[in-house]
Amino acid sequence: MFEAFRRWRRRRIIERAGLDPALWQQTLAQLPFLRDLTPAENERLRQTVILFLHDKSIHGAGGLVLDAAMPLLIAAQACILILNLDIDYYAGWVEVIVYPDEFVPTMEYVDEDGIVHTDHAPRAGEAWLQGPLILSWADVAPRAGGEGVNVVIHEFAHKLDMLNGDANGFPPLHAGMNRRDWVGAFEAAYSDFCRRVEADEETRIDPYAAESPAEFFAVLSEAFFEIPAVVHADYPEIYAQLQQFYKQHPLARNSIRSRD
Ligand SMILES: [Zn+2]
Repeated sequence: MFEAFRRWRRRRIIERAGLDPALWQQTLAQLPFLRDLTPAENERLRQTVILFLHDKSIHGAGGLVLDAAMPLLIAAQACILILNLDIDYYAGWVEVIVYPDEFVPTMEYVDEDGIVHTDHAPRAGEAWLQGPLILSWADVAPRAGGEGVNVVIHEFAHKLDMLNGDANGFPPLHAGMNRRDWVGAFEAAYSDFCRRVEADEETRIDPYAAESPAEFFAVLSEAFFEIPAVVHADYPEIYAQLQQFYKQHPLARNSIRSRD
């Protein structure tokens, strides 16, 4: 009964939404990693974006005024993560705050030893447990961070990780996924990646991934969608785990394109 109501409500939101088709095409054109979606995936992404924009409050801060295209660009990137999951993966919080540029967080946090930190390092994005998600527009703009870097995917991956508590690189796995396989793959890849970064090796994956297991999951999620061939080549077991978690195979999309 409740499920039927939910489906009806969603259908009604999608049918009533006035998402400008030209603006939608313009959004997709700015995001190269979305250009190989099948027509069915494209339509599912569009519907997920409509639900996302309906549920979330996206607003500018620090003097930034959002135009119609900006929330759509954020939503399209946020929703690629849940294309084959469900909009409810982003339930339980509402606000997306967008600053013009990198921002200095003012909120304090308490670590596991009970110590209060006020971190004044400028950030491109931030995701709070059951709280807002904060982005710097300068870093959201297409290709802002270069290939393989995507602050929107990064912060929304943290949100998925937080579905079972603090971000720690271990989001809730689906039925049929093996907890030991996930942990084994991530621990091995994380320690290998940290070794490479410490040795000053050139890595195509953002070295920020070495910061913590939580950052490793978020950065590898960015790379999975933007440069899947690199993840597949460097860490095939991570690719396999992310493929199961996101229920997507971005490398297959890419290889369709490269045959053109
Ligand atoms: Zn992060």
